[in-house]
Parts: sequence; structure tokens; C-alpha cells
Amino acid sequence: MQEYKLFIDGEWTNSSIKDTFDDIDPATLETIATIQVAGRDDIDRAVESALKGFKVWSETPPPKRADVIYKAADILTKRKEELARLMTKEMGKVLDETRGDVQEAIDIAIYAAGEGRRMFGETTTSELRDKFCMTILRPIGVIGMITPWNFPMAIPAWKIMPALVAGNSIVIKPATDTPLLTIKLVEILMEAGLPPGVINILFGPGQIVGQSIVHHPDIKAISFTGSLETGKWIMSECGKSMKRVSLELGGKNPLIVMDDADLELALEGVLWGAFGTTGQRCTATSRVILHKDIKDEFTNMLVEMTEKLKLGNGLLPETDVGPVINKSQLDMIKGYIDIGKDEGAKLLTGGNVADIDLPGYFFESTIFTDVKPDMRIAQEEIFGPVLSLITVSDIDEAIEVANNTRYGLSSAIYTENITDAFKAIKKIDSGITYVNAPTIGAEVHLPFGGVKGTGNGFREAGLEAIREFTEVKAVYIDYSGRLQKAQIDQ
Ligand code: NAD
Repeated sequence: MQEYKLFIDGEWTNSSIKDTFDDIDPATLETIATIQVAGRDDIDRAVESALKGFKVWSETPPPKRADVIYKAADILTKRKEELARLMTKEMGKVLDETRGDVQEAIDIAIYAAGEGRRMFGETTTSELRDKFCMTILRPIGVIGMITPWNFPMAIPAWKIMPALVAGNSIVIKPATDTPLLTIKLVEILMEAGLPPGVINILFGPGQIVGQSIVHHPDIKAISFTGSLETGKWIMSECGKSMKRVSLELGGKNPLIVMDDADLELALEGVLWGAFGTTGQRCTATSRVILHKDIKDEFTNMLVEMTEKLKLGNGLLPETDVGPVINKSQLDMIKGYIDIGKDEGAKLLTGGNVADIDLPGYFFESTIFTDVKPDMRIAQEEIFGPVLSLITVSDIDEAIEVANNTRYGLSSAIYTENITDAFKAIKKIDSGITYVNAPTIGAEVHLPFGGVKGTGNGFREAGLEAIREFTEVKAVYIDYSGRLQKAQIDQ
């Protein structure tokens, strides 16, 4: 059994405490690795190393930083299949999806590296004579990154690649359920030529290691992806020390099916959106809002196809849906089934821990109908294969229901009617809207993130990612040779 140490100052190094945790395959419950937990001294060591790394890396010209990232993208491409298989073992989702997860890391690497030769500031006019004005982008310093388990390589990569091209150094803590793909990503970056100290990895529970990262005075910004509850706590703590914080939190994503929709297309979209990644995506479709005129027909089609989805080990080609990540997630999903029934929703299919010949954490793909918009199963993020169907009479009611949650990440509408499509684009409160496509499927050159309880205004990916990891400076160059006073000299 391989035991993984912490990664500090370019070396795999023993933790100062004797604590470890097991990394478990959620399909077979086999232990696949043992991981050392960081102690307080290790957090200080990692930040010291990142401060040293920052000195070197921030002085490296951005196109040279980009060369390292391009090389990492090449290595990732060569090792894609091996990494995807490891991810399926560690996290459970099916191979097609873990291949997609690695591909996202490759895509963001190539996209971010391209910014090494762009990272544009602006030049603009001055209200005074013989004065030149421009903006430049500067790195922030040491960034603390805290990531969840559902996209074990894509989410760390979405943060790491833009932060690196912008010249920052990093201390990252991956989720304890899925540390291996962050380890692999960092090994690949080192192989590609990243100097020691620029990236450091710590492992351990959020309550201890994550909190220490948030509180460390030499970490200048926190980039967090995870639940709303943790995000709120991090934001309030960062407020106390004026630390910059970017948050990517949960979702309760609606998908509207109008009466004129192509129902076959919508069906495929709902199955993929709701049960892909076993419903464990921040962008998962968790509420389907059905026009009353197609409700019965669409519901029948959906239940029939959902019951055909095959649960199993994600490494097998016949598997449609893998396990959920761990026992506490499984218990939470079970709890929501009881809540839904108690609230008066009607269980159409699923609702049980799956009885298959694997010891892991499998839950049946589940659909509730007659769900009212204010029920807890329509309001709270379940993060599992549980879908709520809500019926509406027209587009205005559909949009009202779509907006009736505290989250605002992704949304979708299936319709052939251009007016309804544009109403949805304009009026749904979310960071992403898809027309005739499900709530999942983000591409790395567009901004990713949401409104309301989903975040605090930052976006990842696209050009926004460079903004997340840089400070902008305004520069004034006066070549008049005399004191000129803005707003006063006419
Ligand atoms: P979580 O908030 O429990 O944990 C996320 C990370 O934060 C983990 O590394 C954890 O160890 C750490 N953590 C926990 N408590 C902490 C604390 N007090 N201080 C510092 N760190 C702490 O979330 P999770 O269960 O791992 O992930 C699922 C959640 O992530 C869902 O809500 C999902 O919607 C969200 N998510 C959002 C996005 C997005 O981009 N918007 C993407 C994926 C997942």
C-alpha cells in the first residue's frame, strides 16, 4: 500500500504528526492509498516554501511560465487514460466522465498557458496633457486552494493553471476523499519544470488543515470550491483579515421542458444532467420543471429510461452510473428520500440503496413527482441521484420556479420557441443558461460560476480566471515636466 507524504519545497516530506487517513475506492471499498495528515508546523513550512517559490516564479516572464504549463498539458495528454482509470477507482464516476475530467485539466492548461502571451492591461486617455495611462496585472502572492472531491483533477487544474500563469505560488489542500489526482497533477507540473516551492500540497480534514490555510497570515487569497456552508464560514473568516476570497459553491439547477420541446432530446439531456456523475455535480440537474401539457408523456418516458440505467463499477463499459462518494453522502441521500415522502412528494422510481453485487456505496437513480417548489427536496442541494419534477402552466411560472432557490449556478431550457428561450436567458438568475442542452457541459474558455448562494461574484475559467488570480494596478506616467493636478487643473 503506497503511503503519500506532504509535498513541500519540491520534496515529498513526512508530516510532523503521525496521523494518516485511507483513500478508499467507493465501488469496492478497497483501500487504494494511505495519506499523511499535515500538522500545524507543516502548514507553516508549506507557506514558507510558497513565499520562496513566489519570489522566483513572479519574476519569471509569463511566456516562460506558460512553457511549463504547455509541457504539463503534453504530459497530461500522454497519460490521460491512466489518470482517468485512477480517478474512477478513487472517485467512482464512469470512465467516460473521468476521461472528460482529465481533458478539462488539459484544456484549461492550454487555455491558461495562452494567456502567458496576452494577460492584457488597458491603455487609455488622460484628462491632462502629456500624461499616459495604463493598467497592468500583478500576481497576488501565495494562494490557498481548497477543493472538493467531485472533479478530482479538473477543479484543482481550473485553479492551479491560471494562478500559475499569473505568477502566483500555491498551497493546495484537496478533499480527503480524492487526493490522488492532485498529487498526480503536481507531479506532472514538477516534471514539466515548475521550480520547487511554487506549489505545495497539504492533506487532511477541512476543519483542521483547511481552517489553518484560511487563517494563515501569509496566504493572500483563498480560492475555494465546495459547499455553501463551508463557503460562508470561509468568507466571514477572510473578512476579518481582509483576505481576498473567491467562492464556487453549490447549485439546485433547474431544467425547463416546454410544451413545444423536442422531448427525445430533452429526455437525453435530463438523464445525463441528473444521473451523470451519480448526480454529484455542482451543475447537476436536480429540478425538472415540466409544462403541464407534456408532463405525463415526458414523465413516463423519463421513468422508463431511468429504470434502464445500469449501476456498477465505473471501470466497466456497461456501467451507466457509478457509486456515490462515501457513507455519509449515502446516508444523507437516504435522509432526503424520507424528507421527500414526508413532505408529500410522490416517489416514482428508485429511493433505495441499490442491491448490487458490490460492497460500495450505490444508490438507485430516483425520481419524485408532484414536488412543490418550496419543499426541501426542491430547495436543498442533495448532491446525489435524486430528481424532483415540478409542473407549471407557462414560461413565466417556469422562470419563477427556476429562480425560487438560494442558489444560482446553472439552468437549462428545452424549447423550439425563440421568445421563451430568450426570456429564460434574460430572466433566470444563474451564472450559466443552456438552451436545448442539459445543465452540465461547461467549456474552459467561458466563465464558470453563479449568483446568489453559489458564489461571491468571481468566476473561474475563461478570462475571468486571470482576474481571479491577479491584482490590477493603474499606472500614470506624466511626461509634462510640471505638476499637473487631476480634477483641479482645467
Ligand atoms: P465541502 O465544503 O464539505 O468541502 C470542500 C473542501 O473544503 C474539502 O477540501 C474540505 O476538506 C474543505 N473544508 C471543509 N470544511 C472546511 C473549513 N471549515 N475550512 C476550510 N476548509 C474546509 O464540500 P464537498 O462535500 O467536498 O463538495 C461538494 C460541494 O461542492 C457541493 O455543494 C457542490 O455543489 C460544491 N461544488 C461546487 C462547484 C462549483 O464550481 N460551483 C464545483 C464542484 C462542487
